[in-house]
Amino acid sequence: MNKKNNEAAPGLFGDSLPPPAPAKKSGLLAFSYSKMSLYEECPLKYKFKYIDKIKEEPKFYFAFGNSIHTALEFLYSVKAPPFPSLEETLEAFKKDWGRKSYLEKGYRTPQKAEDDCRKGLAMLTAYYEHNRAGFKPPFLVEYSTDVEVDGLLVRTISDRIEHLGGGEIVIIDYKTGKDVKRQPLQLYMYQKISEMDPRLKEKIAETYGQRVSSVKVRQLLYYHVPTLKEYPFERAGDKEIGGFWERVLGVAESIKGLKFEPTPADQACSWCDYKSLCPAFFGGHPHPAASQPASTENIEALVDRYGQLKEKMDDLQVQLNAVAESLGRAAKDGGEYAGSQYTAQVKKNSKWEFGNREAVISVLNKFDLYQKALSLTLTGITGVLESVDLPEEARKKLLEQAVKKTATEIKIVKKEGLI
Ligand code: SF4
Repeated sequence: MNKKNNEAAPGLFGDSLPPPAPAKKSGLLAFSYSKMSLYEECPLKYKFKYIDKIKEEPKFYFAFGNSIHTALEFLYSVKAPPFPSLEETLEAFKKDWGRKSYLEKGYRTPQKAEDDCRKGLAMLTAYYEHNRAGFKPPFLVEYSTDVEVDGLLVRTISDRIEHLGGGEIVIIDYKTGKDVKRQPLQLYMYQKISEMDPRLKEKIAETYGQRVSSVKVRQLLYYHVPTLKEYPFERAGDKEIGGFWERVLGVAESIKGLKFEPTPADQACSWCDYKSLCPAFFGGHPHPAASQPASTENIEALVDRYGQLKEKMDDLQVQLNAVAESLGRAAKDGGEYAGSQYTAQVKKNSKWEFGNREAVISVLNKFDLYQKALSLTLTGITGVLESVDLPEEARKKLLEQAVKKTATEIKIVKKEGLI
């Protein structure tokens, strides 16, 4: 993953890839690993995103991953020591973090964004302390390249590349999401493209004064920043790269052949922003005709889906309550207000609440009002409190036990012509 890459498997902080650049030469299909994985997840989702260019909602895990990558890019962008201090590195993270509001980053509440900001600072501090003894200027950081191969213009953006000498390199890809078992397929793409990339040889000559006849990947590495764990892979053999490349060409052929049939699945659909446009998604679930029959195998997915929706609903309820409270404070009772898309009728209902039952009984007894309260119902006591002939002293004592609460009722209507 790299900081400019912000699409891909949901649920993983920033483990994503950005919209690849359009093909620079006619007839070439602009391609990347993220395009391939999105197509394999659901061809229709790919079409919505890349062909129809319909924007997705911002995702907080991409925002988080991007800011971590920006800070690490800042840390390693030195030609010679000294490296930036920890404070400067954290400042680079905060600066990038502050460029967007919590909503623009995809968080539902400012609190969640602040929690992640703190998490990011702690993560970078741990990374810095763990690696500071071994800091050395890297060969390349956030190296982006487009290589033409088999009718494709393939883009890779490597987080960090180390040169071991003689044209041998190590490619490092930071991961900031969950610590899950990852296949090295993305790294196969980096290996294939790096070894074909003529610019890398030039960069080696520029940086180290060495003329090399070829570039060879010695090792590929996922670095999981939250746990400081390294997941190294030896260079892939011809068989692995050949099999992987067949898969790449198969996906590219399908895209060129405009094959965009939806492939609904609980997990993919639950993260998909295009549900409202998708004919295969129906009433909150993949269309019954297209979905798998319920089985023990998909109970785990259903449990996760239920949990995710419940969490989303709870978050929304908190937001709804907060907005209703603000609207209630700003609006007048009986008022009607218009936004650009909705109108709202606001009605306020006030009522007394009495916290201490014993104290209320004692006041009623003292002033001989018990009968008037009609067996101590809330309506009865409120009636006593609001009656005009109530002695002032009794009213004062009852008010000491009472709190006036106002409930706001909001009726929302969508304006005509809006869907
Ligand atoms: S809702 Fe599901 S089937 Fe439809 S585009 Fe999204 S992932 Fe594909």
